Amino acid sequence: MPSMRIDRITLREIRLALKEPFRISSGVVQERRIMLLELHDASGATTWSECVAGELPNYSSETIDTAWLAISQWVAPRVIGREIAHPGELHEVLERDFREHRMAKAGVEMGCWGLAATLAGQPLARFIGGTRTQIAAGISLGIQASPAALIEKAGAALAEGYRKVKIKIEPGKDVEWLRAARAALGSDAHLMADANNAYTLDDTDRLAALDELDLMMIEQPLAHDDLVRHAALQRSLRTPICLDETITSLDRAQDMIALKSGRIINIKAGRVGGFAQSLAIHDLCESQGIPVWCGGMLESGIGRAYNVALASLPNFTLPGDVSPSARYWARDVVNPEWTMKNGMVTVPLDVPGIGVEVDTAMIESITVRREVLA
Ligand SMILES: [Mg+2]
Repeated sequence: MPSMRIDRITLREIRLALKEPFRISSGVVQERRIMLLELHDASGATTWSECVAGELPNYSSETIDTAWLAISQWVAPRVIGREIAHPGELHEVLERDFREHRMAKAGVEMGCWGLAATLAGQPLARFIGGTRTQIAAGISLGIQASPAALIEKAGAALAEGYRKVKIKIEPGKDVEWLRAARAALGSDAHLMADANNAYTLDDTDRLAALDELDLMMIEQPLAHDDLVRHAALQRSLRTPICLDETITSLDRAQDMIALKSGRIINIKAGRVGGFAQSLAIHDLCESQGIPVWCGGMLESGIGRAYNVALASLPNFTLPGDVSPSARYWARDVVNPEWTMKNGMVTVPLDVPGIGVEVDTAMIESITVRREVLA
């Protein structure tokens, strides 16, 4: 690829309307606050990217507001004006004496991968070494009002073609609910559970009761940064543990493998600081026989483009959280919107770069904050 030099990054916050409002503890959310970035190369080429940090620090310590500060104060100054021979070199540049803020770093770092693919005249998926032409899609279902409601939602998702149904669980809404789902949906249904840190080792017997249900995996049952207790739990379970929140870097993935804290990794590029670490974790897992899949962070169609490219790598052997645009958004910010056919999302391979056309007029109309960094 030709080297690049970014001379400007435009940050925007948009408010993207959700198809169905969802209830969280603090009220009903009608729209998602999303940070989009537009990177401008000195050659005139531009690329869009997305920072996945949410509104509240309830997944990691980052939020859209901390990420905005981190990008404008510390990330962008290290990248703007720099002669970049390859985007793979940026991870080190961004880690030097600069702790955490991985989602902020990833927003810029991934944009540089997208820009590099554009400049190289290659689809992003191929630029990073992806081999798939289609990605198997999974759906993630929030905690439902009753086992009957869960069965209905999960059954509808399977009928729609989804290759994996991920069911959020918490103590009291777990074994009986999943048992009912398994009984209703049959032994062939690809089901998994995601506990989002809701359990402790005191719940080992309850979690071991899930073994009979033949789940693909249980995701992150224990604390968000734990490895040692997950190793103890995995020794008591037949069901594979998949780690999400804990795996923040290649080092943590190596720790998971060494300690046997889990047998599967959910890779989210934003959580690990971008594509360079995602690729390194992918390669490590491939060499160690650890399957990976691509998680979702309620991205717009721009963030989804990066997820689809990442999930085209060979060791992404399990269906990812890559739902079509219409699952979440009244209208997405890309043309065409992401769609699914027979549970598969097509990797865009016809055009260089991230593979979707960005609807700039729509984005302009829902932008509530903007800052140009140069
Ligand atoms: Mg998760």
